[in-house]
Amino acid sequence: MDVTVSEVGPRDGLQSIKRTLPTADKLRWIAALAQAGLREIEVGSFVSPKVLPQMADCAEVVAQARTIPNLRVVALVPNLRYATMAFEAGTHVVTIPVSVSEPHSIANIRKNHPEIIAEVAAIVALRRERFPDIRVETSLSTAFGCTIQGIVPEDDVLRMAASMVEAGSDTINLADTVGYANPAQVKRLFTRLRAEVGDKTGGAHLHNTRGQGLANVVAALDAGITTFDSSQGGIGGCPYAPGATGNIVTEDLVFLLESMGLDTGIDLDRLIAARAILAEALPGEALYGHVPAAGLPKGFTPAAHVAGRMA
Ligand code: ZN
Repeated sequence: MDVTVSEVGPRDGLQSIKRTLPTADKLRWIAALAQAGLREIEVGSFVSPKVLPQMADCAEVVAQARTIPNLRVVALVPNLRYATMAFEAGTHVVTIPVSVSEPHSIANIRKNHPEIIAEVAAIVALRRERFPDIRVETSLSTAFGCTIQGIVPEDDVLRMAASMVEAGSDTINLADTVGYANPAQVKRLFTRLRAEVGDKTGGAHLHNTRGQGLANVVAALDAGITTFDSSQGGIGGCPYAPGATGNIVTEDLVFLLESMGLDTGIDLDRLIAARAILAEALPGEALYGHVPAAGLPKGFTPAAHVAGRMA
């Protein structure tokens, strides 16, 4: 596999849709995604069920998703209390959102920078003590701009990345939370991130709010990034980005990568079949995507099947 596509729909997508998808439907969808070849799925957030009732079944979803072979189960956690629950539920990876824009951090999780850095260090300490096999990732949100603060200086992003490494985070991801990024910026910032944190450089969480999502993926590829978040049907976004269409569409992302000759391990026909589960479970909800609408080109060959290439 050349590139890891990390599906975030069950978390990022479902938490921004008002109605709650029943646990059985979530699990059916997650199983279908894994069947299509997805090897990493962010299955939910451990957060207050009062704030996000859609995520109230997260521990159960994690426990069930863990029984799927070859699937890395990721859960989002905002603080130590919920990280403890995620660790106990058996997640393989926790991802902690850390806003480079301090006003966004305060609006989103009511924590300023020193507080969130201390929280990450506390989560890492708990991991070290009781759950040594679980990975702790941080996702630097608003890394490319913020609807509250506006411009986010690149030096601020790199400073926060260094703080996260110091706090013990295994991986640092960059997120274009509000869809402000352009390809030149994406290539430059990921290149600078790698110079700053080396092999702790993580993946890209890019949004398509202004239509730059897949162009930004190509720019991140140019900077050597090989993990990309996306959501099936492009569901989800950010509650502090009004009108955001949000996440890049998994189906279009996989098509982009495979047609460029990069193996994702994902079967596009099966992936598009998984979309039917979502459409059925969420009638009337907007599902995006060009490839699902237009179909695969005649003669399309997945990367792993291109002649002369080891599958
Ligand atoms: Zn997102």
